[in-house]
Amino acid sequence: MTKRDLEIALAVVFAVVVTGWLIGFAVGWATRPDTVVETVAPEGPPERAVAPQDGPVDGAGGVSYPGYEEIHVNDYADLLREAAEDRVRQDLKDLYDRTGIEMTVLTLSNMAAYGHDGPIEPFATGLFNAWGIGHAVRNDGVLVLVVVDDRHMRIEIGAGYDQSWDARMQRVIDDGFLPHFRNEKYERGIETGVEETIHELTGRYPGEDEIGTAARGWAWILRQLRKAGDWIWSLLLIPLGGAALGLRHYLRVRPRPCPHCRVLMARMGEAADDEHLDGGQRLEEYLQSVDYDVWACADCDHKEIIRYPSLFSAHGTCPRCDYRTLASESTTLEAATTSSSGRKRVDYHCQQCDYEDSEIRTIPRKSSGGSGGSGGSFGGGSSSGGGASGSW
Ligand SMILES: [Zn+2]
Ligand SMILES: [Zn+2]
Repeated sequence: MTKRDLEIALAVVFAVVVTGWLIGFAVGWATRPDTVVETVAPEGPPERAVAPQDGPVDGAGGVSYPGYEEIHVNDYADLLREAAEDRVRQDLKDLYDRTGIEMTVLTLSNMAAYGHDGPIEPFATGLFNAWGIGHAVRNDGVLVLVVVDDRHMRIEIGAGYDQSWDARMQRVIDDGFLPHFRNEKYERGIETGVEETIHELTGRYPGEDEIGTAARGWAWILRQLRKAGDWIWSLLLIPLGGAALGLRHYLRVRPRPCPHCRVLMARMGEAADDEHLDGGQRLEEYLQSVDYDVWACADCDHKEIIRYPSLFSAHGTCPRCDYRTLASESTTLEAATTSSSGRKRVDYHCQQCDYEDSEIRTIPRKSSGGSGGSGGSFGGGSSSGGGASGSW
C-alpha cells in the first residue's frame, strides 16, 4: 500500500463510520424509550426467606422439583454454552441491581423425571413457589422455564403482577423465544427471549441505559435483524463483502501517475515483473506470502514496486533477512489437559537465508466447561399461576 492508497482507504472508512453513526443515531432517536420506568433499587441485601436448595424438593401429589445451584441461571438441559450463560446471568444480575426484580432461567430435559405429566402450568407454579422466586412482599419474581424434550416453555410471574401481564408475557414468548426454538436454536431463543422479557418488564433492554443514542439505534437494528432470521445476513453480507473486495481491487489497480513525468504508469504482468524483483521477493511470491506489483513508466525509467502481504500466510517475517519466508513447525512435547497446561517446541527455518531457531511454548490448559455460579437464594416470593406458556 502506498500513502495515497492509505488516504483513500481511510476516507472510505471514515465515510462508513460517519454514515453508520448517523444511521444509528437516527434509529436510536426514533426508537427512544418513551416511558421512564420507575426503578426500585433493592434496599440492602435481599431478604432470604428460603434457603438454597441443592437437591430435589418434594411437592404435592408425588411431584418433586429440581433444586437450584444459583439464583440466575440453572441450565440443567445444557442448552447454553458458557459465554451465552454468562451473558444471560449478567443481564439478570443487572436487572436485579437496577430494579430489585429477581428473574431466573431454568432449563430441564423433561418433567417426567420429576414425576409430572400433563400441562406445564401447574409444574411451573409449584416450582416457582417451592423456590420462592422474587421479593416476599412485592412478589415481583419471574421464572423462565424451558423444558426442551417436552417442547414446552413457560414464563411464570409473581402474584404482584396483575392479569394484564399475562398477555405481555405471551407476546414475549411468541416473538422472542418460540421463533428460535422452532429452528432448534435454543441458545439464541433464550438470549433473545430474556432480553425481550426484561424490556417488557422495565421498558429497557439490558445495558441500554449505559449506551448512547447511536449505539442504542444499532442495538435496535441488530435485534430486528436477529428476529428476521439468519437469511437476512446473507442478503447484507453479499453487497458488503462485494464492496470490500471491490475497494481492495480498485486500490490495487487504480491509475498511478509517474512522479517524474505525470504520465500514467502501466502495471506489469506477473511473469514480466519477476525480473524487477530480487531473489527474496521472488521466493515470497513463490511461497504466496507476499504478492508484488511492478508499475513502469512508459516515458522514463521509473519503476514502482508495491508489496501486498497475504492475509492468510503460514510464513512469518525472518528476523535476519526481513523477507516473509520463515516457516515454522510445532511439535507437541506434552499435551494439555483440563488440569495442567502442556508444552510444545516450535522450530523456525527461513527458506531464504537458512536462519534457524526454536523455542518452547506453553499450551494453555483446556477449559473444563462449567462455570462458577453466583450462589445465593431466592427472596421468598410466590406466584398464583400468572404468566404465559408456549409450545413448539
Ligand atoms: Zn516517468
Ligand atoms: Zn531469512
